[in-house]
Amino acid sequence: MQGEALSAKDQSSKIKDQSPAPLRVAILSSEAVPFAKTGGLADVSGALTKALQVEGVDSFLILPLYDQVDRKLLSGIFIDDLEVEWRGKPSRVRVWKSDALKAPTYLIEAGHYFDRGRVYGERDDFERFAFLSRAAIALLKRLGDAPDILHCNDWPCGFASIEMRVRRRHEEFFAKTRILFSIHNLAYQGIFNPSDLWWLDLAAYTDAFIFKGAASALKAGITAADALSTVSPRYAQEIQTPEQGYGLDWLLRARRDRLVGITNGVDYELWNPQTEPDIAAHFSADDLSGKLGCKLDLLRRFDLPKEPERPIIAIISRLVAQKGYDLIRQGAQAILEAGAFFIALGAGAREYEDFLQRWHDAAPQRVGIYKGYAGEPLAHQIEAGADIFLMPSLYEPCGLNQMYSMRYGTVPVVRATGGLDDTVENFDPETGKGNGFKFGPYSTPAMLEKIREAIYFYSQPDIWAGIQRNGMAVDNSWSAAAKRYLQLYREMAETA
Ligand code: ADP
Repeated sequence: MQGEALSAKDQSSKIKDQSPAPLRVAILSSEAVPFAKTGGLADVSGALTKALQVEGVDSFLILPLYDQVDRKLLSGIFIDDLEVEWRGKPSRVRVWKSDALKAPTYLIEAGHYFDRGRVYGERDDFERFAFLSRAAIALLKRLGDAPDILHCNDWPCGFASIEMRVRRRHEEFFAKTRILFSIHNLAYQGIFNPSDLWWLDLAAYTDAFIFKGAASALKAGITAADALSTVSPRYAQEIQTPEQGYGLDWLLRARRDRLVGITNGVDYELWNPQTEPDIAAHFSADDLSGKLGCKLDLLRRFDLPKEPERPIIAIISRLVAQKGYDLIRQGAQAILEAGAFFIALGAGAREYEDFLQRWHDAAPQRVGIYKGYAGEPLAHQIEAGADIFLMPSLYEPCGLNQMYSMRYGTVPVVRATGGLDDTVENFDPETGKGNGFKFGPYSTPAMLEKIREAIYFYSQPDIWAGIQRNGMAVDNSWSAAAKRYLQLYREMAETA
């Protein structure tokens, strides 16, 4: 038997050989940090891909190569001639690779569709993202092993969800690939004219797309997926109701056994007041003193008077009705009467931009505004320098800024909806527990009451520091969320 004894090295390699291959997960998204961002989806796509690698998953990301992607992030051309069957004939695109995320990112270059100076808002968005989906699936075939999971995010990836479902029936290569469709915001549905399904080669799946007489990429994505997730447990419940189901609640109720809510995490490598480069001073829960330097810096940036004892209320968000701007507009005068500065960073609807401008013009010593998408540094400087962060959202699938705020000792005042309700604990002066202030009804008086309460406690520094520390102690890191995704992926892969 001598000849059969294994050396320690052989034994360890044998054990290695027997261990299951890591799960292979392709994440498809229309935006991801650090490449292109309009909102939380970008933060999530980038951070999840990274966090899964830490969990031992063979994760990689597929994105469009928009014109605004910083070319310095690219490591080189990965495929020069990816053939994509499109509008009845083969078209060829290039695929670039980036290692900026410490997980491979593949970016599909199709200037005709993605060099538009913005991510969304084009007349042919449905066509642009249908192309992304088709190209992504062609890319998967060129990448070697098929993924165990294709993780599709929001309506732009609805096309990939249904195409994969169909292709795996006919193509052995994809036979074991399972599809997860994540809903980051149900209100955006990718609606287009069903007659366009013909030339997109999708007419055979009209039933999956058809929604109130139109075609919905979101509905097709939800219908075709093996499993569904959304970005907080509370939102997973809310979207099954007629009030928040945007006409799809029946479908989500029908598929509720396949729907889970996984709260997003925070990428503490990027959002960290102890280390990050863009803020004026560093601070931590043990030593909050640096926050004053950040506050003074913020007042200076927005041309506001140097009055550090006055609380700063801030908001950073897309300027859309969802974010509660109607309440802010109605309560504007009362917010200033409560004694606060107000700083707003936002891009979006003209009516809210005009409101912010008018508010600023009427009270330039108290209201600071930045209209437009500012990029990361200013968002971080506001988080670090503000005292109170306002999120009076009509609905909020998860919300990231309340979690960023907590890490920066900036106390959130939020409406109890979706992920805001799941992640913010209302402060209770009796017990000293809680990390923010939450109101229930979507009404201006309810919002103002909580703002006044927050300002009242702000004026009592010891109590305030306690609330700040409660928030800073919360661990919203990605590792817990990544583990939940991993568990879900494993369950899905087992059905293959
Ligand atoms: P949503 O995904 O609905 O836009 P989230 O709270 O989940 O809302 O995420 C918003 C993200 O986008 C945060 O990282 C926030 O800082 C960022 N953000 C929103 N608007 C702007 C802006 N005008 N400039 C810079 N960053 C912004």
